[in-house]
Amino acid sequence: MYYVPEGTDKCGYYECSCCGSRFLDVRVYPTLVCPYCGEETDMELGPDDEMPDAPENAKLIKTLIGEEVEKYDALLSLAITGGDFSWI
Ligand SMILES: [Zn+2]
Repeated sequence: MYYVPEGTDKCGYYECSCCGSRFLDVRVYPTLVCPYCGEETDMELGPDDEMPDAPENAKLIKTLIGEEVEKYDALLSLAITGGDFSWI
């Protein structure tokens, strides 16, 4: 497991419309801030502070459930390390 913790049974499969990165995240939302070209929201900000305006470039492609999580995690990890994933 590379993107999500061992034993994750549900996660989102995302593709960034900005940089083209594909990744998994345990958060399942229609859009996410891309971890590669976007900034994570600073959780230390108080409720009265202005929220940083990070673009949510990553779009949910698919919700992965059960053994799909491990399969896609392995596929994406392979893609990053230069493996052949034409068998997707
Ligand atoms: Zn991106």
